[in-house]
Amino acid sequence: MSQPPVLTIAAVYAHPDDGEFFAAGSLAKWAKAGHRVYAICATRGDLGSKRPDADPEELARTRASELGKAMAVIGAEPPIMLGFPDGALREHAAALRERLIYWFRKLRVNRVLTFDPWRRYEIHPDHIEAGRMASEAAAFSCFPLLHPAHRAEGLEAVQPQEVWYMMPADHRPNRVVDIAATFDTKVESLLSHSSQIEMLASWFVPGADPANLTAEQQGQLRSGARDFLTMMSKASTGFAPSLEHAEAFFAQRVGPGHFENYQEMFQELLGVPASAPEIC
Ligand SMILES: [Zn+2]
Repeated sequence: MSQPPVLTIAAVYAHPDDGEFFAAGSLAKWAKAGHRVYAICATRGDLGSKRPDADPEELARTRASELGKAMAVIGAEPPIMLGFPDGALREHAAALRERLIYWFRKLRVNRVLTFDPWRRYEIHPDHIEAGRMASEAAAFSCFPLLHPAHRAEGLEAVQPQEVWYMMPADHRPNRVVDIAATFDTKVESLLSHSSQIEMLASWFVPGADPANLTAEQQGQLRSGARDFLTMMSKASTGFAPSLEHAEAFFAQRVGPGHFENYQEMFQELLGVPASAPEIC
């Protein structure tokens, strides 16, 4: 019996904690199955605090180390930090695309996970640009004449097979991943982002000082995070009721310079219900 192929999977984020809500369970499952899993984080996350006295440099270092912890929890490779300034990906879109093509070629990426840049009500420009540039990079990294400096470094053109969009809010997903076995890992990976606990604490432990949580409040935070991620699972298991925990995606097949699952894409554009999602 032939072994299933080992995939190289790159999750492209705008900020260090972007994947924890939507994809960490799937990434952990794939890492466990022996695939190579990377996070490529576009920005330094240096605006990610509501404290006016926060030091952006220190915040960037902290957040890089938090993503490192989360990826270790997931069983993935150490993260690749591209170092663009937080909140400014729109101004750096072309440079971001070049860096993503570079890393897709260097890692020989088969599958890309990222934000859906066409999602309605997505207000964060970094999320839109990360998704847009990751999609373009997946479609264009196969053209060897694009960025010849990469070839001079010994990197060959590569053709990623699919782009998986996290949380497909506008339409039915076509992939639903069963994450029952990695749900606990997903909770832990989310809680690895200590600097972002301020936000979680305001949701789950109102009135608490996020920097000085008591043991009881820590427990409340953990169970709040678990309940929140369970609620997100429920939204996804609506498409696959037999599953206890799931993450949903809309996967596009990548062709040179374009997407190529035309029938599914046209059905989607015309609002014709797609076929049932693939459970994986
Ligand atoms: Zn973000």
